Amino acid sequence: MNIPEPEPFEFKAGQFVTMDLPVHEKRLNRWRSYSIANGPGEGNTLEFCIVHMNGGLATQYFFEEVKEGTVLRLKGPDGGFVLPEQLDKTLVLVCTGTGIAPFRSMIRDIHRRKLPFKGIHLIFGTRREDGILYREEFEAYRDLWPNFRYDIALSREPDWAGYKGYVHQVYLEHYPAPREDVVFYLCGWQNMIDEAVANLIVKTGFDKSQVRYELYG
Ligand SMILES: Cc1cc2nc3c(=O)[nH]c(=O)nc-3n(C[C@H](O)[C@H](O)[C@H](O)COP(=O)(O)OP(=O)(O)OC[C@H]3O[C@@H](n4cnc5c(N)ncnc54)[C@H](O)[C@@H]3O)c2cc1C
Repeated sequence: MNIPEPEPFEFKAGQFVTMDLPVHEKRLNRWRSYSIANGPGEGNTLEFCIVHMNGGLATQYFFEEVKEGTVLRLKGPDGGFVLPEQLDKTLVLVCTGTGIAPFRSMIRDIHRRKLPFKGIHLIFGTRREDGILYREEFEAYRDLWPNFRYDIALSREPDWAGYKGYVHQVYLEHYPAPREDVVFYLCGWQNMIDEAVANLIVKTGFDKSQVRYELYG
């Protein structure tokens, strides 16, 4: 018997899918979006990096009910939060927590396709050291690429040797004045994105076209 291979699921690094999760009776309240955390062309497996939020409906479903073999219904891929056509500007990727997902996808895509790039500055924020996501992987890219910088800001880790506090101080320190050779990608929750957009565009004076973001909620 000839069993056809499944169609490859095609997406661009940085895009998300939307899942219809059995968490609510009303269909509209069942949809949750998740950025794909691995890169395109890595086989027909999608990886996700999902926050554990106390009281969250999808959280409860993912962390308490889903097990190996559970079938998830999803639509997509969607979204325009993807790499620029030309990587001739430094990409400053700013995220908190699971906002790392689209950036991991982009960085893996650049690595797999051996795309030449001017520079990548990954700025990751979370509370404590045990919340640093994909640390070894990004440290490996840092060791591999001289033009890849990786900074971590921890807000509740007094003995941390790196940045203590929030991601905002990191990009403000490195990019204190407008310049044309950078583009900012922001990913995470409303408070972080609002503050970063205000800091970069209103306070520092970067052009709107240099600041792109993916808002999780
Ligand atoms: C385009 C897109 C991509 C996304 N990609 C991801 C992803 O890759 N990984 C991921 O974990 N989530 C991602 N999200 C968020 C995700 O869709 C859900 O909102 C999240 O999983 C919480 O769902 P829940 O049902 O557990 O919580 P709900 O019951 O829906 O949450 C209740 C409320 O809390 C807010 N909230 C949820 N989590 C947080 C948080 N950590 N900080 C502050 N407020 C919060 C929600 O916005 C909501 O208003 C994405 C959202 C969008 C729109």
